[in-house]
Amino acid sequence: MNQFVTEITRLGLKVTPQRLAILEFLEGNRTHPTVEDIYHEMSEKYPGLSHTTIYNILMKLIDAGKIREIHVDPQRRRFDPCMDPHDHFYCRKCGNIYNIDHDPHLSGIVTQERRMRDGHRIDTIEVSLQGICKYCEGGKDENDT
Ligand SMILES: [Zn+2]
Ligand SMILES: [Zn+2]
Repeated sequence: MNQFVTEITRLGLKVTPQRLAILEFLEGNRTHPTVEDIYHEMSEKYPGLSHTTIYNILMKLIDAGKIREIHVDPQRRRFDPCMDPHDHFYCRKCGNIYNIDHDPHLSGIVTQERRMRDGHRIDTIEVSLQGICKYCEGGKDENDT
C-alpha cells in the first residue's frame, strides 16, 4: 500500500490511522516537534486524537528506534525523526532548534579509555548547544546593509 504501512509493520507495530498519520507527519520533519505541535497539526483531521495517544505513539516509535527524544529545549519535550548523528542548537530567542553537523570533538570524549567516569559507564552523550541563532542575531535581511 504505502511506505508508512510497510514501515509500521516492519517496526512490529499494529497499523492504525493515527500511527500512519504521525509517521507521515514526522517523515523528513526538521522542526523537532513537541506533542502539542503534532496535536495542533492533526487534531482537525483526527478529532479523536488526544495528547496521550500521540505521546504513546511517539514512545512506541522511540522503542522501535524510529525516532528519538531530544533534551535541548528547556521548556518542552521534543522529538526528532532524524536518526543520523547530528548535534542540536537551541535558540533562546526564537526557541527554534537547528540541526547542526555532528562535531566529533564535542562527543569525542567517549573514547574507549574514557568511557568510565567516576565508575559510571557512559554510552550516550547528547550535545546541546544554546545561544542566539543567525536569524535572530542578524535581525535584518541581507539586502539591508
Ligand atoms: Zn533564533
Ligand atoms: Zn535533530
